[in-house]
Amino acid sequence: MNKDQNTKEADNAMMTEHCPDCHCAKDQFHRPGCDLERCAYCGLQYLCCDHAEQVPDDDRMRFNGSFPDQEACEELGLFAKLVPGQGWVACNRDEPGAFPDLNTLYATCQWNRQEKRWQRRRG
Ligand SMILES: [Zn+2]
Ligand SMILES: [Zn+2]
Repeated sequence: MNKDQNTKEADNAMMTEHCPDCHCAKDQFHRPGCDLERCAYCGLQYLCCDHAEQVPDDDRMRFNGSFPDQEACEELGLFAKLVPGQGWVACNRDEPGAFPDLNTLYATCQWNRQEKRWQRRRG
């Protein structure tokens, strides 16, 4: 009956106290070479983007217990599951095997550099 409550709990389950890759604590910087650090300038993987090692610490994103691209998928309801013979197919987040649909996120959204979050592309 209290659907909002359930949604909240599910969201909390995605939060984690330490980065799963570099094990830094919440509100700390990721350690150098962490796969999961996101670039504050373009929102992509900091290791591989054009800004690697060029973002001053003042601008870098600290680990806040979740990841901006996964949060955006939650917010926009972008989920996909792997269907044999069909590849990744859009689905609801409650469906078994649902993963945040990052491909669709990157294709349909742009990184807001000021707010450090993904938002839908205009027009
Ligand atoms: Zn990390
Ligand atoms: Zn970048």
